[in-house]
Amino acid sequence: MKNNEKKKILIVEDEKNIAELLAVNLMLAGYAYEVAYDGEEGLEKALTGEFDLILLDIMLPKMNGFEVCARVRRRLSTPIIMVTAREEEKDKILGLDTGADDYVTKPYSFNELLARIKSNIRRSGGELIAPEQSADAEHVLTVRGLVIDTERYSVERDGTPIELSKKEYDLLSFLAANLGRPYSREELLEQVWGYEGFYGDIRTVDVTVSRLRSKIEVDPSKPEYLFNKRGVGYYIK
Ligand code: CA
Repeated sequence: MKNNEKKKILIVEDEKNIAELLAVNLMLAGYAYEVAYDGEEGLEKALTGEFDLILLDIMLPKMNGFEVCARVRRRLSTPIIMVTAREEEKDKILGLDTGADDYVTKPYSFNELLARIKSNIRRSGGELIAPEQSADAEHVLTVRGLVIDTERYSVERDGTPIELSKKEYDLLSFLAANLGRPYSREELLEQVWGYEGFYGDIRTVDVTVSRLRSKIEVDPSKPEYLFNKRGVGYYIK
């Protein structure tokens, strides 16, 4: 599933020209991307956990790259490449334990950067070819406070275990593994219920969604995890 999708890169860069150039080049190289123009926005986007790699500038408005990096690291293992403007900054990265995986110094060639991106994604397990292996390497799905361990079939919210039925669990882990992508009820019946779903009623999906919400959401009437995009389908964000 995830292996057929484009790798998604978060560009955190306040200089619009640089960000746009990077974005265009990444797109041409076959990557999906999003751009954040300051540190706070970068952190917020990074913590959604939907990126395969983060390109992080250091000198940023609102929150600098060192802090963004350290805060992302408390929650996620997404590879981070720090982009430094000066040699002193490079020394600082090496000296500080920010948790960055790699760094490049401006000005850099895009080919050099691309090579770093590839090797960092590969090292993180993101480019494994066999889906089974990749599922093993990434058996914990995290959506903010929600932690889904697909090896132990357990779910926790903010450290508290949540009991789910088999189908509730299947639905949650499927949507969490495909973060942000909405699925129609028909698609979910096919993907999550499989053979049974062939004979199923699409209302089965609604019922399971509402049960799941009552368990994972703090306030099921104001969902923070499981959303419904009207006319499109259900998704987790
Ligand atoms: Ca900058």
